[in-house]
Amino acid sequence: MHSLKPSILSIITLVVAGITPGFAEVDTARIKAADSEENAGQWMAYGRDYSEQRYSPLKEITADNIGQLGLAWYGDLAERGGSYETTPVVVDGRIFVTSPWSKVYAFDAKTGQQLWKYDPKVPGEWAVKLCCGIVNRGVAAWKDMVIWGTLDGRLIAVKAKTGEKVWEVQVTDRELWLSITGAPRIADGRIFIGEAGSEFHQRGYMAAYDADNGKELWRWWVVPGNPALGFEQPELESAAKTWNGEWWKTGGGGAPWDAITYDPVTNLVYVGTGNGAPWPAEIRSPGGGDNLFTASIVALDAKTGKYRWHYQATPADSFDFDNTQSIITADLVINGEKKHVLMQAPKNGVFYVLEAATGKVLSADLFVPTANWMTGFDENFRPILDPAANYGAFGDKGFHVVPSAGGAHSWHPMAFSPDTGLMYIPTNYSSFPLVAEAGAKMGNQLLSINVGKRPQDPAPKLEGSGSYLLAWDPVNKKAVWQQPQGSARAGVLTTAGNLVFQGAQQQTFAAFRADTGEQVWSTPTQAGIVGSAASYSIDGAQYIAVVAGQGGGFGPASYWAPNYARLLVYKLGGKATLPERVSYTPPALNPPANFGDAALLARGETHYNAHCASCHGNSGRVSSLFPDLRYATALGEPELFKVIVIDGALTDNGMVSFRESLTPEDAEAIRAYVVTLANEAKNNPQPQSPFGGPPPAPPAGTAPPVAPAPAGQGAAAPPPETHR
Ligand code: CA
Repeated sequence: MHSLKPSILSIITLVVAGITPGFAEVDTARIKAADSEENAGQWMAYGRDYSEQRYSPLKEITADNIGQLGLAWYGDLAERGGSYETTPVVVDGRIFVTSPWSKVYAFDAKTGQQLWKYDPKVPGEWAVKLCCGIVNRGVAAWKDMVIWGTLDGRLIAVKAKTGEKVWEVQVTDRELWLSITGAPRIADGRIFIGEAGSEFHQRGYMAAYDADNGKELWRWWVVPGNPALGFEQPELESAAKTWNGEWWKTGGGGAPWDAITYDPVTNLVYVGTGNGAPWPAEIRSPGGGDNLFTASIVALDAKTGKYRWHYQATPADSFDFDNTQSIITADLVINGEKKHVLMQAPKNGVFYVLEAATGKVLSADLFVPTANWMTGFDENFRPILDPAANYGAFGDKGFHVVPSAGGAHSWHPMAFSPDTGLMYIPTNYSSFPLVAEAGAKMGNQLLSINVGKRPQDPAPKLEGSGSYLLAWDPVNKKAVWQQPQGSARAGVLTTAGNLVFQGAQQQTFAAFRADTGEQVWSTPTQAGIVGSAASYSIDGAQYIAVVAGQGGGFGPASYWAPNYARLLVYKLGGKATLPERVSYTPPALNPPANFGDAALLARGETHYNAHCASCHGNSGRVSSLFPDLRYATALGEPELFKVIVIDGALTDNGMVSFRESLTPEDAEAIRAYVVTLANEAKNNPQPQSPFGGPPPAPPAGTAPPVAPAPAGQGAAAPPPETHR
């Protein structure tokens, strides 16, 4: 599969290009030939090629010589306030990465010189229309263009050489709160992309657009709308029979916001669909029903968008079990027979192997030690739901779901090595507390979960819980190794050098032996890594590229900390060094004296939790990627506070005007409440949880709050993530 055969094309390429890399166009034939000699040094698509395996056939860098791996160059990235989730795309000597606010950078892949940067100028107000930050996961290369999606629902194509705009199309309804954060995939001139926004009363859909001009070619809706208005697709009529009540009034969800895999073998597009929304099935579809096609893998005809098959991984999802995680195709030998399969390890904790052409499940096995939302599978691999997990029907009792709503594996791409036959999965094993309450919101998101409440029973004790990198054998259906220095929340690259690369603990970038998991290399990166690395070669030298950057870091007042977001590129013998960290003193808590009576403070707390907490942290105690308001200088200036909250003075930063939902008196109540929190923190450096008991879990339920790192040394742990 991965032989490096010389070809006539490679000779022509060398003759035409001379010693400097030329710039050939990317098309379907070239991506299909990603492992040929002339293309082995490229990384032409988000998952490298159509298989999405993230396996580079390059093997100059090996598990044995990796001690010589050093920094070749780095490129500074300016954006802050959100994680860098991008995978670099590399074509013929140019490297393209995306940043928060859907911006794109192009660098010379050999020298590190920045070639251009494109800012689509997403309005700052979109920050409050997103579940999970101002993020973007990458571009697609097509012909001589680079194409990507924006937070405000546009597709943009620019010249790969110059960054000059070729076309731009608004592909979502701007009145709806839909965003694009995933990387487009392109085949035969069709751009495949889905939208995000399930928690904002939306129906998810997947669509294809013409790569020459962005014109919509087909659209496939994930969930049925109001049956009285008819169905856009015939299969939605039968899907509607799996819903109860008036689900369309709150959307239904299913947004396919990440995993899309085009398969040239079947000419199908495999799409991972999102969770049902709002979250408790009993609330969005009272009385039951599977709620098709949420939390499923769906196969669509690439040319027409027509439904071909589906497998629902989590029927009647109540756990935010998006099924949007990486879908990887491969040829496996199972029981002596060669099978073309797709594989997925979604949030629900089950590793699936499906026959690609038909969707027939070949195997389904837990890749974490336990799960409590189901008890097993029936003969058709339909999960048998545990009735005790239907917490939406149990009022206040609540439920701790295992694995967590943040996912046994989330969007962070996994990788598959055809050499070892192993899948490398960023894995998390933990529980997440859920208490249903119809209509309850978190910020602008309708979850029907009261995020301020905890279940009546204590959280389960889980042996072996935590975050790690897991190597899984999909044929023998078992774990081969797990590496606690790896991470649940960073993407993976594997190479023919018997290596697996991943952003690891303690703000490092690490390499492990692909066969045994032994850590063989690690380097400090000054910022955390959540995206995946890519590998490419120029003039015979192999490079490893990864983006480090989680906004300003993590911890109280981290938003104001120095920004160490960078594209980092390594090669054997690389001698570049990162600049010394900037000495940094976090802003001190300096609030005015407490003011306001109990009624004003209660009003402030209510409004804070409804409108502020989803960006600024849980009751002001757990900081997020946006500023911790307890440190805000505007706390001492009532007029300034109102100008920001009501008049939208900081709209460009994402701090939109709240005029439509808050009065100036409400803003003053919020100020009074945050001032009290700030004084409490100032007088008590380790404040107790506002809920009593242990500190509240961050929204994802996976990353416990951590103490801030000492000034100038950076944080040791990843930032809290949103629920996805
Ligand atoms: Ca979700």
